[in-house]
Amino acid sequence: MSRILIAEDEERISSFVDKGLRAAGYTTTVVAHGGEALELALSGSFDLVLLDVGLPGIDGFEVLRRVRAQTSTLPVIMLTARALVSDTVAGLDGGANDYIPKPFKFDELLARVRLRIRDAVAVAPASLSRGAVTLDLRTRRATVGDRTVDLSAREFALAEEFLQHPDQVLSREQLLSRVWGLDFDPGSNVVDVYVRYLRAKFGSDSIETVRGMGYRLR
Ligand code: CA
Repeated sequence: MSRILIAEDEERISSFVDKGLRAAGYTTTVVAHGGEALELALSGSFDLVLLDVGLPGIDGFEVLRRVRAQTSTLPVIMLTARALVSDTVAGLDGGANDYIPKPFKFDELLARVRLRIRDAVAVAPASLSRGAVTLDLRTRRATVGDRTVDLSAREFALAEEFLQHPDQVLSREQLLSRVWGLDFDPGSNVVDVYVRYLRAKFGSDSIETVRGMGYRLR
Protein backbone atom coordinates (compact mmCIF):
# COMPACT_ATOMS: atom_id res chain seq x y z
CA MET A 1 0.00 0.00 0.00
CA SER A 2 1.41 3.39 -0.95
CA ARG A 3 1.90 6.05 1.69
CA ILE A 4 1.30 9.67 0.81
CA LEU A 5 2.35 12.74 2.76
CA ILE A 6 -0.05 15.67 2.34
CA ALA A 7 1.62 18.97 3.29
CA GLU A 8 -1.11 21.60 3.09
CA ASP A 9 -2.09 24.26 5.60
CA GLU A 10 -5.60 24.93 4.29
CA GLU A 11 -7.67 22.48 6.27
CA ARG A 12 -10.50 22.55 3.73
CA ILE A 13 -8.14 21.35 0.99
CA SER A 14 -6.12 18.89 3.05
CA SER A 15 -9.22 17.14 4.40
CA PHE A 16 -10.77 16.92 0.92
CA VAL A 17 -7.57 15.43 -0.52
CA ASP A 18 -7.04 13.22 2.52
CA LYS A 19 -10.54 11.69 2.35
CA GLY A 20 -10.29 11.12 -1.39
CA LEU A 21 -6.89 9.43 -1.21
CA ARG A 22 -7.96 7.21 1.68
CA ALA A 23 -11.06 6.21 -0.25
CA ALA A 24 -8.75 5.33 -3.17
CA GLY A 25 -6.80 2.97 -0.89
CA TYR A 26 -3.79 5.08 0.04
CA THR A 27 -2.40 5.56 3.54
CA THR A 28 -2.09 9.27 4.27
CA THR A 29 -0.54 11.65 6.76
CA VAL A 30 -1.47 15.34 6.81
CA VAL A 31 0.85 18.10 8.04
CA ALA A 32 0.25 21.86 7.91
CA HIS A 33 3.75 23.18 8.58
CA GLY A 34 6.85 23.26 6.33
CA GLY A 35 9.21 22.03 9.04
CA GLU A 36 7.07 18.98 9.74
CA ALA A 37 6.69 18.35 6.02
CA LEU A 38 10.47 18.34 5.57
CA GLU A 39 11.09 16.04 8.51
CA LEU A 40 8.48 13.51 7.41
CA ALA A 41 9.43 13.68 3.73
CA LEU A 42 12.99 12.74 4.71
CA SER A 43 11.90 9.98 7.08
CA GLY A 44 11.79 7.41 4.28
CA SER A 45 8.23 6.51 5.29
CA PHE A 46 6.44 7.92 2.24
CA ASP A 47 6.10 6.97 -1.41
CA LEU A 48 4.91 10.38 -2.59
CA VAL A 49 4.58 13.93 -1.25
CA LEU A 50 1.84 16.42 -2.14
CA LEU A 51 3.49 19.69 -1.28
CA ASP A 52 1.70 23.03 -0.99
CA VAL A 53 3.88 25.97 -2.02
CA GLY A 54 2.53 28.41 0.57
CA LEU A 55 3.29 26.62 3.83
CA PRO A 56 4.02 28.34 7.16
CA GLY A 57 7.56 27.96 8.50
CA ILE A 58 9.54 26.65 5.54
CA ASP A 59 7.77 27.25 2.21
CA GLY A 60 7.14 24.44 -0.26
CA PHE A 61 9.95 25.36 -2.64
CA GLU A 62 12.51 25.33 0.17
CA VAL A 63 11.13 22.03 1.49
CA LEU A 64 11.52 20.63 -2.03
CA ARG A 65 15.06 21.93 -2.34
CA ARG A 66 16.10 20.32 0.93
CA VAL A 67 14.36 17.05 0.08
CA ARG A 68 16.16 16.93 -3.28
CA ALA A 69 19.50 17.54 -1.56
CA GLN A 70 19.00 14.13 0.04
CA THR A 71 16.94 12.03 -2.31
CA SER A 72 16.24 12.16 -6.01
CA THR A 73 13.77 9.29 -6.05
CA LEU A 74 10.87 10.47 -3.86
CA PRO A 75 8.06 11.74 -6.13
CA VAL A 76 6.90 15.26 -5.20
CA ILE A 77 3.81 16.96 -6.65
CA MET A 78 3.55 20.67 -5.90
CA LEU A 79 0.15 22.23 -5.13
CA THR A 80 -0.33 25.93 -5.42
CA ALA A 81 -3.00 28.58 -5.61
CA ARG A 82 -0.65 30.76 -7.58
CA ALA A 83 -1.19 29.39 -11.03
CA LEU A 84 1.68 31.35 -12.48
CA VAL A 85 4.14 30.17 -15.06
CA SER A 86 7.09 31.38 -12.99
CA ASP A 87 6.01 29.21 -10.05
CA THR A 88 5.64 26.21 -12.31
CA VAL A 89 9.10 26.68 -13.69
CA ALA A 90 10.62 27.24 -10.25
CA GLY A 91 8.90 24.10 -8.96
CA LEU A 92 9.99 21.92 -11.84
CA ASP A 93 13.53 23.32 -11.80
CA GLY A 94 13.66 22.60 -8.09
CA GLY A 95 13.03 18.93 -8.83
CA ALA A 96 9.26 18.64 -8.53
CA ASN A 97 7.88 15.75 -10.55
CA ASP A 98 4.61 17.47 -11.28
CA TYR A 99 2.62 20.56 -10.53
CA ILE A 100 -1.10 21.03 -9.90
CA PRO A 101 -2.58 24.54 -9.73
CA LYS A 102 -5.47 25.11 -7.32
CA PRO A 103 -8.35 24.75 -7.59
CA PHE A 104 -8.18 21.24 -9.02
CA LYS A 105 -10.61 18.37 -9.45
CA PHE A 106 -9.88 15.41 -7.21
CA ASP A 107 -9.91 13.01 -10.17
CA GLU A 108 -7.16 15.00 -11.80
CA LEU A 109 -5.03 14.87 -8.66
CA LEU A 110 -5.66 11.14 -8.27
CA ALA A 111 -4.64 10.44 -11.87
CA ARG A 112 -1.35 12.27 -11.37
CA VAL A 113 -0.67 10.58 -8.03
CA ARG A 114 -1.20 7.15 -9.63
CA LEU A 115 1.07 8.04 -12.53
CA ARG A 116 3.91 9.32 -10.32
CA ILE A 117 3.78 6.37 -7.96
CA ARG A 118 3.79 3.95 -10.90
CA ASP A 119 6.73 5.77 -12.53
CA ALA A 120 8.67 5.78 -9.28
CA VAL A 121 8.19 2.05 -8.81
CA ALA A 122 9.29 1.41 -12.40
CA VAL A 123 12.32 3.71 -12.27
CA ALA A 124 13.67 3.57 -8.73
CA PRO A 125 16.04 0.74 -8.00
CA ALA A 126 14.94 -1.36 -5.04
CA SER A 127 18.50 -1.66 -3.82
CA LEU A 128 22.06 -0.53 -4.41
CA SER A 129 25.02 -2.89 -4.10
CA ARG A 130 28.76 -2.50 -4.19
CA GLY A 131 31.13 -5.22 -3.09
CA ALA A 132 29.66 -6.83 -0.01
CA VAL A 133 27.51 -3.81 0.88
CA THR A 134 23.82 -3.73 -0.09
CA LEU A 135 21.37 -0.95 0.73
CA ASP A 136 17.68 -1.82 0.52
CA LEU A 137 16.17 1.52 -0.50
CA ARG A 138 12.62 0.54 0.40
CA THR A 139 13.17 -0.79 3.91
CA ARG A 140 16.24 1.49 4.48
CA ARG A 141 18.21 -1.54 5.70
CA ALA A 142 21.87 -2.17 5.07
CA THR A 143 23.65 -5.50 4.84
CA VAL A 144 27.31 -6.43 4.57
CA GLY A 145 27.48 -9.95 3.16
CA ASP A 146 24.63 -11.64 5.01
CA ARG A 147 25.04 -9.51 8.12
CA THR A 148 22.48 -6.75 8.79
CA VAL A 149 24.06 -3.46 9.83
CA ASP A 150 22.17 -0.79 11.78
CA LEU A 151 22.53 2.64 10.20
CA SER A 152 21.07 5.93 11.36
CA ALA A 153 19.07 7.90 8.77
CA ARG A 154 22.07 10.15 8.13
CA GLU A 155 24.51 7.23 7.82
CA PHE A 156 22.13 5.59 5.37
CA ALA A 157 21.87 8.77 3.29
CA LEU A 158 25.66 9.07 3.20
CA ALA A 159 26.08 5.40 2.24
CA GLU A 160 23.44 5.87 -0.48
CA GLU A 161 25.40 8.82 -1.87
CA PHE A 162 28.58 6.71 -2.06
CA LEU A 163 26.84 3.72 -3.65
CA GLN A 164 25.14 5.95 -6.23
CA HIS A 165 28.55 7.26 -7.30
CA PRO A 166 30.93 4.31 -7.18
CA ASP A 167 34.55 5.04 -8.16
CA GLN A 168 33.98 8.80 -7.97
CA VAL A 169 35.81 11.00 -5.52
CA LEU A 170 33.17 12.92 -3.55
CA SER A 171 34.34 16.08 -1.86
CA ARG A 172 33.36 17.00 1.69
CA GLU A 173 31.39 19.95 0.27
CA GLN A 174 29.44 17.72 -2.11
CA LEU A 175 28.64 15.24 0.63
CA LEU A 176 27.74 17.99 3.08
CA SER A 177 25.32 19.67 0.68
CA ARG A 178 23.75 16.44 -0.61
CA VAL A 179 23.38 14.63 2.71
CA TRP A 180 23.09 17.44 5.25
CA GLY A 181 21.67 20.26 3.15
CA LEU A 182 21.70 23.55 4.97
CA ASP A 183 21.90 22.05 8.43
CA PHE A 184 25.68 22.39 8.74
CA ASP A 185 28.20 25.05 7.91
CA PRO A 186 30.91 24.28 5.33
CA GLY A 187 33.67 24.21 7.97
CA SER A 188 31.98 21.36 9.80
CA ASN A 189 33.87 18.07 10.17
CA VAL A 190 30.63 16.10 10.32
CA VAL A 191 31.40 14.34 7.01
CA ASP A 192 34.70 12.98 8.36
CA VAL A 193 32.96 11.83 11.51
CA TYR A 194 30.25 9.99 9.56
CA VAL A 195 32.75 8.44 7.14
CA ARG A 196 34.45 6.98 10.23
CA TYR A 197 31.08 5.60 11.38
CA LEU A 198 30.53 3.95 7.99
CA ARG A 199 34.06 2.50 7.95
CA ALA A 200 33.43 0.99 11.36
CA LYS A 201 30.30 -0.67 10.00
CA PHE A 202 31.30 -1.56 6.42
CA GLY A 203 35.01 -2.32 6.99
CA SER A 204 37.98 -0.01 7.51
CA ASP A 205 39.03 -0.08 3.83
CA SER A 206 35.49 0.37 2.43
CA ILE A 207 35.89 4.13 1.95
CA GLU A 208 39.20 5.54 0.79
CA THR A 209 40.49 9.01 1.70
CA VAL A 210 41.74 10.86 -1.37
CA ARG A 211 44.07 13.43 0.09
CA GLY A 212 43.00 17.01 -0.47
CA MET A 213 39.97 15.91 -2.52
CA GLY A 214 37.54 13.86 -0.50
CA TYR A 215 36.39 10.26 -0.26
CA ARG A 216 35.82 7.38 -2.62
CA LEU A 217 33.94 4.13 -2.15
CA ARG A 218 36.12 1.08 -2.78
CA1 CA B 1 -1.06 27.24 1.71
